[in-house]
Amino acid sequence: MNSDSGRTSAPAVRREDRPLVISVDQRHLSGPFDIIGDVHGCHDELVALFRQLGYAADGHAGWRSPAGRIPVFVGDLVDRGPNNVGVVALVRRMVEHDAAFCVPGNHDVQFERHLAGEPVPLLFGLEGTVAEFDAQPPQVRSDALAFFRSLPGHHVFDGGRLVVAHTGLREDLHGVDTPECRHLAAYGVNDDSIDPRDTARRHPWVATYRGAATVVYGHTPVLEAAWNGRTIDIDTGCVFGWRLTSLQWPERTLTSVPAARAYATRRRPFLPESGSVPTA
Ligand code: MN
Repeated sequence: MNSDSGRTSAPAVRREDRPLVISVDQRHLSGPFDIIGDVHGCHDELVALFRQLGYAADGHAGWRSPAGRIPVFVGDLVDRGPNNVGVVALVRRMVEHDAAFCVPGNHDVQFERHLAGEPVPLLFGLEGTVAEFDAQPPQVRSDALAFFRSLPGHHVFDGGRLVVAHTGLREDLHGVDTPECRHLAAYGVNDDSIDPRDTARRHPWVATYRGAATVVYGHTPVLEAAWNGRTIDIDTGCVFGWRLTSLQWPERTLTSVPAARAYATRRRPFLPESGSVPTA
């Protein structure tokens, strides 16, 4: 049962009335949700996915589901794709109108740090995102910074049954709202000694995860989103020319749209499926 059925008709919340940071804890919301994988500036594909999911354009808040479905972005809105300004503007508008949720990915946090004046290296697509935003009025950059700063590191939904975090999150950290937990959820394990082709080590929490909550994440491109116990990676590498994928909750169906083209070259081979992660 959708516990937030008044959402589509609710008046817009004035920006000055919004909390500075959105709460991790959204257990009172049971959806239905459309959880959306890494977008990376692929605005056209995001719009195509909304259309595929039956959403209608809403001049006020971006895209609306007539069925009251709520989009939840797993993060990495920016870098490598063709329209990072457009994606951030759309997702920011939807989140600020309480029409969507978003958690930050490592690329988003790097951009947030750049916008805040930190000397982060302009690598891995960030150079393109910065160039795009530098061509915009300063207000666009300050709005983007305020937006990313408002995002908690992960969300807990549906009475605790659903957790969304960019790299996933081990059970003892579900609901923990600290800067350290936000960083871990966005970046995951950051160790050059780890073979990036090995998802079990890129997402080491998966192998031992026995939690009751379903954990939905992105971060590592896979050819097919596949379940590993109660966890699923829904990053199907849209920016690398594959697909933008969403997971429907509570239905647990998958809906994808193809990338119009490859916007970036994957330095590493795609994994055949996240199901290759050992569960023992
Ligand atoms: Mn990503």
